This record gives sequence, structure tokens and C-alpha cells, in this order.
Amino acid sequence: MGAQRTQAEQQVADLLRTAKRALGLSVTFLSRMDGTTQHLEVVDSSIPFLFPEGARMVQATSFCQAILDGRLPAVIPDVRALPEAMALPAARFPRLRSYVSAPVRLSDGTLYGTFCAAGLTTDKGLSARDQALMEVLAAAAAVVIEPGVVDRARAEEIESRLVPLLVEGGPTVVLQPIVDLASGRRAGAEALSRFPAHWKLAPDVVFAQAHSIGLGHELELLALERAARHLARVDGYVAMNVSPATLVTPECGALLARLPADRVLLELSEHDQVEDYDALSAAVAAPRAAGMRLAIDDVGAGFSSLRHIVVTAPDVIKLDRSIVDGVAADRVLTTLVGSLVDFAHGSGTLVVAEGVETAQDAAALRGLGVDLGQGWFFGRPGPAEALGPTDREPAGPSPVRAPTEGPWTLPLEARTGA
Ligand code: C2E
Ligand code: CA
Ligand code: CA
Repeated sequence: MGAQRTQAEQQVADLLRTAKRALGLSVTFLSRMDGTTQHLEVVDSSIPFLFPEGARMVQATSFCQAILDGRLPAVIPDVRALPEAMALPAARFPRLRSYVSAPVRLSDGTLYGTFCAAGLTTDKGLSARDQALMEVLAAAAAVVIEPGVVDRARAEEIESRLVPLLVEGGPTVVLQPIVDLASGRRAGAEALSRFPAHWKLAPDVVFAQAHSIGLGHELELLALERAARHLARVDGYVAMNVSPATLVTPECGALLARLPADRVLLELSEHDQVEDYDALSAAVAAPRAAGMRLAIDDVGAGFSSLRHIVVTAPDVIKLDRSIVDGVAADRVLTTLVGSLVDFAHGSGTLVVAEGVETAQDAAALRGLGVDLGQGWFFGRPGPAEALGPTDREPAGPSPVRAPTEGPWTLPLEARTGA
């Protein structure tokens, strides 16, 4: 019994043992009541096969329900003295003759189930003090089980939203233009997932929720599939977000191997934990050898240890919005961005600034040598059809001056003269 008890179940078992010893009855148990069925979740019994853990009973005709309804008292020293009790199935089998029950309520007041003691013989000594003890232990049990109940409810809620979305093929994927700051021409686009608006959740939150219930890889892979479908509809490169954990799966490796490597840039966030850098390097080796590029995302966002950059030697770093927004008017940001550009260019790495919202910031970034820009100033994320071709002359006011530099795919040496 209890071979696979969780820590919470073990703690409840300790409370049940305390109750059983104090009351001297044959069995104590914690039950969960789901509205129709009473489940014996944790049991401490002197009569091994009579009250197995996992047993279920009809809730409506249980002793506990009759007590919750006030049809029976919470302490029953002699079941035979109460006709209402004698009418219940458990009075016939397993012939219960004494009973104490206390409700287990969660902190929001909802009923979880009951904390009970039962005997096969009458026990005239059972008193209100025994009931008080059971109530204290029931309250302790509620505190112990509440986190698990909350987690389970949360997981079920996430699953009920995600599973239908996975079944229908994953999130909608939109594209946001990425522009060469010098020429003003679009070089590529970032694929960004969009979930149903009524969820009111940012995509990174949804991905985190999916990972928390074991559906993260599946969701990420479907998003990558849908991002990849855009390759046929737009020109330039398509940047795709992937977590290190999903990237190292064989399924992801197989998916990437099917893509036109020279048009794909993988974005790995600097803030994602990397468990195993060797596995990550191994996972990106084949796609990179085939020409796929790798970007480190969210550089400068605070959690940045720059460790990803040192270990992966990326082709691109993406400066986080927090150090890009307002750069034109902030000397500290200017210096920081300038140093990151020097650092990146020193090792042949391109720099993309994210979250460019104003012409001033776009111009400042260009002046600092940032290669590419992405942000509302250039275009919001939207459907593939909304992206212009990469070779169109930029229209309207733009940070462009002479288009002296070539397309984004030129080697960095050609751009910097290094
Ligand atoms: P991210 O990769 O850093 O994506 C950039 C975020 O900045 C996007 O947020 C984008 O809509 C937003 N953004 C772009 N330009 C501007 C701007 O000018 N101003 C402001 N304020 N924001 C701008 P979004 O789409 O909400 O995505 C949030 C995060 O969710 C992404 O951050 C990425 O980490 C994650 N994500 C989105 N789609 C996917 C996906 O398909 N797979 C994975 N693994 N992660 C994804
Ligand atoms: Ca990104
Ligand atoms: Ca980012």
C-alpha cells in the first residue's frame, strides 16, 4: 500500500495514523467527494482488504454525505441506534458500527472531501472531543493537499484549452518585418505565434504553460511547422523562435532537416535555461552545417549572462526591446548598444535591434552600426500577405539614406570592411 505515495499523501497518512491511534477505531481515511462518487484516497486500516486505497462508493448513500447533510450526527458511537444510518449500504457491508467524519474544505471554502474514522464495533466512548480532534486533523489535511489540488485544476484548465488547439494544427503564425537599417529594405521576418484572443495571454506565457504540463514540445513543433509554411509565401529569411529544450529533441531535428536551411534563422532566447550546452551544440551542428543561422534573442534584457553567446557563437544577436526603446535619447543605452555592436562585429556577428518604435531610435541605431531593425516603426506582426517583397524600394519617411550596403545575406566582412 502506498508504494507511490506523493509527499502530500504521506503527510496525510501521518495525520490518519494520529487519528486512528487517538480514536482507537479500525480505519481512518481521507476521501475526495466529486459530487457523485466518494474516493478513498489515503487509508490507514487495521483490516487490510476491507478498505483499499482507491476504493469508490456512491456519494449520495455514504455515511459522510448523510453527515454533511445533517441527516446524521458527525459522531456516531453506535450505528444501530440510528435507523437512518442502518439504512445505508455501509451499515450492511462492511457492517460499520461506529463513525466520525469531518469535512475537508479548501481555503476558498469548497468541499474537497472528508477525513473519517470508522469502526466495525460500537464505541460508546466516542465524544465531541473526538470530533474536535478530527476537525483539526481535517483542517491540517486540507492545507497539505491544497497545492496539489490547485496544480491539478490549473493543469486541467491549460490542457482543456491547448488540446483542441493542438488537434487543429497549432497556433496561428504571423510575420513581422525585419529591415536593413542602412537601405530600409526588408531583409526577413520573424514568425510569431498567436493564440485565441479571448485567452488574453502573451505567446511566451502560453508556451510556458504548455511546457508546464508536458505539451510544450508539441506546441513548439506545430508553431515551427506553421512558420515554415510561410517560407513559400514570402521572400527573405524567416526567423523562428525555439526553446533550447525543444531544439534538442529528435523531432525538432527532423523538422529542421526538411527546411531550406539558407532561409531559416533560429532564435534562441538568452533567458531560457540551457540544461546541457553540449546537447544544444550537437542539435544545432547539422542545421548550421547546412547553412541555417542561429540568433541569440533578448540580449541585454537583464537575465542575460551572455553565456549563450559565448557558447554558441551565434550568427546574429537580437538586442532586447528594453535596451532599444528610447536609445536615441539615452546616453547609457547608446553606450551599451554601441559596445554590444563592437563586441558582435568583432566576432562576425550581425546585430538586430528589436522593438524599434520611432524614427529617432531607428536613426540612432543605424548610426551605432546596428545592422537590422524590427519593430512597430517598420511594421507590426501580421499575415504573410502584408509583407512587401524584400527588393522593393522603401516607401515614405524612413531612416534610409544611401543604400550603400548590400543585402542582409552578404558576409559581415563585406559590410564592415573588417
Ligand atoms: P520575442 O521573440 O522577443 O518576440 C518579439 C516580441 O516583441 C513579440 O511579442 C513582438 O510582437 C513584440 N514587438 C515587436 N515589435 C515591437 C515594438 O515595436 N514594440 C513593442 N512593444 N513590442 C514589439 P509577442 O509576439 O507577444 O511574443 C512574445 C514572445 O513569445 C516572443 O518574444 C517569443 O519569446 C515568444 N514566442 C512567440 N511566438 C513563438 C513561437 O512560435 N515559438 C516560441 N518558442 N516562442 C514564441
Ligand atoms: Ca524572437
Ligand atoms: Ca526578443
